[in-house]
Amino acid sequence: MKPSSGSIPKPLLQDGQGQALYALLQQLNESQWWNAEQLARGQLQQLKKLIGYAIAHSPFYKQHLRDVDLNNLDLNSINALPLLTRAQLQENNGNIDCSQLPETHGVVSESMTSGSTGIPVKLRSTALTSTLWNAINMREQLWHKRQMDKVSASIRWHGEPIGLPPDGVHFTDWGLPVNLFFKTAASYFLNSSSAITAQLQWLQKIQPGYLMTHPSNLRALLQQMRQDESELDCILQVRTVGESISDDLRSSVIEQLNAKLVDLYSSEELGYIAIQCPLHDHYHIQSESVLVEVLREDGSACDLNESGKIVVSSLRNYATPLIRYEIGDYGELSEPCPCGRGLPVMKRIHGRVRNMLTHPDGSKHWPNFGFRKFMQVANIKQFQVVQHGLSEIELKLVLDSVLSAEQEAAIKNILSESLGHPFDIDISYHSSLTRSNNGKFEDFISLLAAKGQDAN
Ligand SMILES: [Zn+2]
Repeated sequence: MKPSSGSIPKPLLQDGQGQALYALLQQLNESQWWNAEQLARGQLQQLKKLIGYAIAHSPFYKQHLRDVDLNNLDLNSINALPLLTRAQLQENNGNIDCSQLPETHGVVSESMTSGSTGIPVKLRSTALTSTLWNAINMREQLWHKRQMDKVSASIRWHGEPIGLPPDGVHFTDWGLPVNLFFKTAASYFLNSSSAITAQLQWLQKIQPGYLMTHPSNLRALLQQMRQDESELDCILQVRTVGESISDDLRSSVIEQLNAKLVDLYSSEELGYIAIQCPLHDHYHIQSESVLVEVLREDGSACDLNESGKIVVSSLRNYATPLIRYEIGDYGELSEPCPCGRGLPVMKRIHGRVRNMLTHPDGSKHWPNFGFRKFMQVANIKQFQVVQHGLSEIELKLVLDSVLSAEQEAAIKNILSESLGHPFDIDISYHSSLTRSNNGKFEDFISLLAAKGQDAN
């Protein structure tokens, strides 16, 4: 049975982007109520098309998936297909891309990401994937009944030194895709590398109804507010992205801000993976765009409510096909949602939690590294930044050859600038970088807490 699903708003304009999105949103509005079997059938069809295309047009997949019997592939037998690791993706950068694309997939764009593994890779996506990602973005706004006449604020990572305090950046509306459907209030952006106290002043000034930020940055904001005994009573929802959240963080948002926390699981390479149910704290996998598996270390599928590594196939991106891609996060699938949506439920996501950087004056900052610029200096395979003291930073690098003195100086400059302070930076070379005890890789580690130099 399909509960009332709410109607899709009409786009403001008669033609253009809004109309294409409107058609797709109507489809998504239907497919969210499909049962598990219907969804799985659709996914298998998409996956087979993608694999066939990748074998035909990607030199990497031609080899990697050479043993696949496409005719007899079903959702149980995909377990026998090889996984794609982040390291393989990096080693085969370029070679993994499809040499040609269906015309209907539109313009190709390229991006660079370090994900949560400190391993930088180049990725391509298409106009088709960005339309789908915009539609899911819109779905998320509608699920959570956002009031578009409220101001929206975002405090997020940005690789360039833009959006700095005291003003950040002001936009006249909420931007794409919401502004295709609604006349919205203004939105504002502040770089998450800004000091926490400056962020709070900024929020007090613009009084947003919605705040989007990274969980570790949110934790630091709430901590600062407790310390100052300050309040912020304008916020209706805090939207988090980019790291895992805890039940504690959800409760603090209710207690301190009288607001709801709405989390989002996405990545630069895969777009939206799962979004929070409008009625519950767990997530619905975005099955129209991704196929998600949760696996044990031996590669077998986990049972429901059993934690394992998350493996994602991006069903519509033919430009850089990601088939059974190990994203580096852990999670748990769970029973179907009482809300009636057939989209599978992911109960918990254990991803990255980033430490905060401390400047010598004691101020806390969510660290930026400038890794995109590192890559213009040298072909870095993996990196990790460690804060040893108030002014001592170590940059651990994995690469094929040692850097020249000029390259080292250039990289230190980029890092200093990105961290927002002229720290003493030491570069060290490693053949590999280890994961923390929970198996997760952390691209930034602060050892100050352990040394008792950190008040929090
Ligand atoms: Zn639900």
